[in-house]
Amino acid sequence: MSHQIAIVGSGPAGLYVAEVFAKLLPDVTIDVIDQLPTPYGLVRGGIAPDHQSTKNVIRQFERTLSRPGTRFLGNVEIGRDLTYEELKAAYDVVVLSIGAAVDRRLGIPGDDLPGVYGSAAIVGWYNGHPMHTDLAPLLDGTTLAVIGNGNVALDIVRVIAKTQAELAASDICSHADQALAAATLTDLYLIGRRGPVEASFTSKELGELGDLERCDVIVDPQQLPAEVGSHVPEKEVKVKQRNLEILREFSTRPHGERPLRLHVLFNAAPVAVLGEDRARALVLERTRLEQGRAIATGERFELPVQTVVSAIGYRTVPFPGVPFDESRGILANDEGLIEPGVYASGWCKHGPRGVVGTNRTDAQGLVARIIADLEHAPQPGTKPGGAGIDRLLRERGVRVVDYAAWGEIDRAEIARAQGSAKPREKFVRVDEMLEAAFALPSDERR
Ligand code: NAP
Repeated sequence: MSHQIAIVGSGPAGLYVAEVFAKLLPDVTIDVIDQLPTPYGLVRGGIAPDHQSTKNVIRQFERTLSRPGTRFLGNVEIGRDLTYEELKAAYDVVVLSIGAAVDRRLGIPGDDLPGVYGSAAIVGWYNGHPMHTDLAPLLDGTTLAVIGNGNVALDIVRVIAKTQAELAASDICSHADQALAAATLTDLYLIGRRGPVEASFTSKELGELGDLERCDVIVDPQQLPAEVGSHVPEKEVKVKQRNLEILREFSTRPHGERPLRLHVLFNAAPVAVLGEDRARALVLERTRLEQGRAIATGERFELPVQTVVSAIGYRTVPFPGVPFDESRGILANDEGLIEPGVYASGWCKHGPRGVVGTNRTDAQGLVARIIADLEHAPQPGTKPGGAGIDRLLRERGVRVVDYAAWGEIDRAEIARAQGSAKPREKFVRVDEMLEAAFALPSDERR
């Protein structure tokens, strides 16, 4: 008998686990369960819409999901359609790969005012995540600040700064494309609480800020140190040096010709958002650095802004029945082990860091561990597996989107973009997705 595996979450963390399992245990059967009718997690809903080439990894994920023995069960939510206990009772192994879907809060006064958003919400809004479709961010002011110095912050300022023409070949959702085109913004701020060397930007993404058609990038050369400093680990020195070179080049550029300005501010920690019925200003405190650590100086200043986006990291949504590590915002786990037979992979295991490919290396380590643990587990074949789960889902009237039904959604989205340069026009609501998925009877789906 082969082992029966359930993977909850069809983003990179889950699908690399599926790929490695199938390679190492060819007889294994795998059910990849996702609460959305669409697979690929952050590759669909997180990667910036103008970074289409990064989404090519989907080809590989398609091979993983179409392998005999592997199934996709979309539109199935644990806690709503199935319980954690039912999953454990059905499968020999359960791997939770549910990512980190909610924003870390700024935790400062005013962070709940209208006009203040987290990066998960903003990115989800322009990328068509059904949970964020109706966000309607306020973009009717002149000034927007993005807090955070990671790649997510860079993605957000770049997408906001681009013209419709620059986004024409992206898969930005049309509601966001139109709202951004109608925005009245003239000034964007990118704000780091530490310095340029401490920013976690990658150089390619930082360099892209210099190619924006309608936006000047403004960097005060006084903010840039001459050297990266001795506190930087050896393996990061090259990237940091390259980032400094890029910022130095930005600082020499003339500005004033373009309608939009991006001000890059370092050493400024957020203290409060001011406003009565919506954000009106951001209070920042200057910091100085000691061996890379930010030390507050007590010197505060106010930036008039009407929209604030925090891009300061994510937290996992607690999973019903699984202990939660509140301080880290992840599922409580020991090197991936949650309890015998249940594991965590990806951002819900170790927090929100790493790029898509990082999940592959992580998956190799985790699957090797699971296979070793299986030596001491009950023999496979004693549990009902996917057949038992199918019965429960049928009884509960859940409209499961399998891989063929997802194919219908995929083709419909691509067809909706025909005649434009966009690769697809995404459905942004679950009911639209289901309508496309089930438009044909099941035996006619490809
Ligand atoms: P990140 O790289 O960890 O950056 C988070 C930023 O938020 C840091 O600059 C951090 O500053 C700052 N921050 C945290 N708490 C703060 C606070 N209270 N006030 C002000 N600033 C605060 O995370 P991310 O940008 O969300 O990205 C997550 C992962 O996805 C990263 O590994 C990233 O490289 C990856 N990613 C990659 C790409 C790409 O390759 N194109 C695109 C998007 C995301 P400190 O350093 O001072 O803590």
